[in-house]
Amino acid sequence: MPFRPRYTGLIDKYRDRLPVHDDTRIISLGEGNTPLIRLHNIPSKLSKDVEIYVKYEGLNPTGSFKDRGMTMAVTKAVEEGSKAIICASTGNTSAAAAAYAARAGITAFVLIPDGKIALGKLAQAMMHGAVVIQIKGNFDAGMQLVKEVAKEAPVTIVNSINPYRLQGQKTAAFEIVEELGRAPDFHCLPVGNAGNITAHWIGYCEYSSASGEMVTGACAYCEGHCKFAGGAIVGNRPRMLGYQAAGSAPFMRGEMVDDPETVATAIRIGHPQSWDMAWKVKEESGGWFDECTDDEILAAQKLLAESEGVFCEPASATSLAGALKDIESGKIPQGSSIVCTLTGHGLKDPDTAIKQSSAPLTTVEAELSAVKAAILENMAD
Ligand SMILES: *Cc1c(COP(=O)(O)O)cnc(C)c1O
Repeated sequence: MPFRPRYTGLIDKYRDRLPVHDDTRIISLGEGNTPLIRLHNIPSKLSKDVEIYVKYEGLNPTGSFKDRGMTMAVTKAVEEGSKAIICASTGNTSAAAAAYAARAGITAFVLIPDGKIALGKLAQAMMHGAVVIQIKGNFDAGMQLVKEVAKEAPVTIVNSINPYRLQGQKTAAFEIVEELGRAPDFHCLPVGNAGNITAHWIGYCEYSSASGEMVTGACAYCEGHCKFAGGAIVGNRPRMLGYQAAGSAPFMRGEMVDDPETVATAIRIGHPQSWDMAWKVKEESGGWFDECTDDEILAAQKLLAESEGVFCEPASATSLAGALKDIESGKIPQGSSIVCTLTGHGLKDPDTAIKQSSAPLTTVEAELSAVKAAILENMAD
């Protein structure tokens, strides 16, 4: 049997399209290369005929897509001599920052909203040895503070305003195109700061560059960090669909929201940092924004877990919740291929999962007869 080379992370894989040098020390945990799973059971129950894939980003090393950006951001921070990184976070950025800082041997400072982050994410930041600063305010307040602190202290910001984050995250689009042999017709994402929807668009645009020419620094999003040498060129780009939680939907309101609230804590963001870029992505791709209620989000999360065996966190399910609505209404036409990004793993937020689960939880004596009775009672006929 021929040996395959060991997968060593997305920077090694896409080195020619990322802003690194031959001698750059790469800080990696083997992120990327996540499964693109075709859904069978959910589409078969729809009234429309569509192909739906989920990109399961929850299978990254710290359980969310943030690892794609963090490997780049921390690699560059270390290359530039930084000894400490800082971020504001709804949870997943802090988990990723903490892990990659540990790997690099530098310090991570993370600002999180007190009491509003999912338990798994807090556990990660603490285990990886980050300095966790809980603030009595939301993500937006934390972001503002991080920007101010970074002006005065020698710390590198690793939120998605760090352009290297988007460079790392664009590789998710590369993987999708390489697996499908083309871009999907629609790509659906949950939107918080809107960095990820922008990063995906960068990735698709680089891959569709018709001429295959070098487009270094040519795109409007990359601040000169794109480094695409052409190669496997596909003709199409998807329409980008960004879904927000209804209680936290500045793109739907057309203005910033001061008190965002949603069960999908990862997208509980009222002042998106990539506001202008996200509007541009929507315009250029011919896509749209929409919103989902918390009930719709939780229903999609449960549907996916129960009928496809895929467990994502609430925010992630927003992409599928939105897609299902738009498929049924016909906004996404029959025959379309659709990719929904599942941004984070369901185990990040066990509290919300258990709270909304209706699975029978039976306690019986440790005796054969009692167990048999419990099984018969719950047997599907
Ligand atoms: C960060 C995050 C998002 C939002 O991504 P943005 O780039 O901020 O739009 C969505 N889902 C999960 C699970 C996240 O961690």
